[in-house]
Amino acid sequence: MKDTQENLLSKAKEVSKNAYSPYSDFPVGACILYENGNIYSGCNVENASYGLSICAERNAMSSAISAGEKTKITAIAIYSPKQKMCLPCGACRQWLCEFAKNENIEIILEDKNEKPAILKLKDIFPYGFKFDE
Ligand SMILES: [Zn+2]
Repeated sequence: MKDTQENLLSKAKEVSKNAYSPYSDFPVGACILYENGNIYSGCNVENASYGLSICAERNAMSSAISAGEKTKITAIAIYSPKQKMCLPCGACRQWLCEFAKNENIEIILEDKNEKPAILKLKDIFPYGFKFDE
């Protein structure tokens, strides 16, 4: 899993170069691994009407849905060259809660140390909104 974690973080780093972030100057890339091994990436895309901007994490999940991905999320790597430990915002945590359907998914972040920091969704978003199943 260590290779996978570093590979996902490397892909998140690569896609952050495509970010459209002229207003915040805070580019972000995200890369998501699904149960079947498929990988989807996304970057943040901002807009002059700030509220219309969308995060890298939600763009990656939207790409997966658009491609017809039906399996669950296993891990997500998130990277910004502007900040170590670039955690997902509240909206993205709720989206992860919806599409991961598993609170044990790994959140892979660039740490101050050499190796990535690995957090669990349940630790950063323990009470997501869900309809009763
Ligand atoms: Zn977000």
